[in-house]
Amino acid sequence: MPDDAARAWVGLGANLGDARATLAAALDALGRIDATRLLRRSSIYRSAPIDSSGPDYLNAVAELETTLAPHELLARLQAIERAHGRERPYRNAPRTLDLDLLLYGDAVIDTPTLAVPHPRLHERAFVLHPLAELAPGLVVPGRGRVEAQLPGVSDQRIERLSA
Ligand code: AMP
Repeated sequence: MPDDAARAWVGLGANLGDARATLAAALDALGRIDATRLLRRSSIYRSAPIDSSGPDYLNAVAELETTLAPHELLARLQAIERAHGRERPYRNAPRTLDLDLLLYGDAVIDTPTLAVPHPRLHERAFVLHPLAELAPGLVVPGRGRVEAQLPGVSDQRIERLSA
């Protein structure tokens, strides 16, 4: 990877069908994005749906290294979501696969189609726990260290599953 590669963090969630297989396929697809390497992934977590319905979610976080610009990376993530048949019949409908660009280096981006850090990162246990597992001490721009956000989500049900 060239020196100008950025470290990006992606949140994965699935709660329909064979969610574990979906996450495995999505991680595989993340590793095949052009100009991008999949460095690490967290354990799989099981979490209660928030602002959504249906069965529990399975979640994970992946660490990428990429020379794609943030919007280009988001477009790749959305293509992977589409490939997994995500449909949006209504807002917050249960979904096959959800991919969020959580962090892109220490960039702060606020455009109509992309907000980084992800605007709800700091209030979601299913993002904070896997992120803290992979990168204790990671600073969320504007919010501080990832572990410092954990007490704020202690009321959300989440369970770490083996690998
Ligand atoms: P959602 O239904 O929650 O997955 O939201 C998808 C929409 O959020 C898309 O239209 C994206 O353009 C927008 N969006 C804004 N910021 C982000 C981000 N950091 N990661 C993923 N989607 C984002």
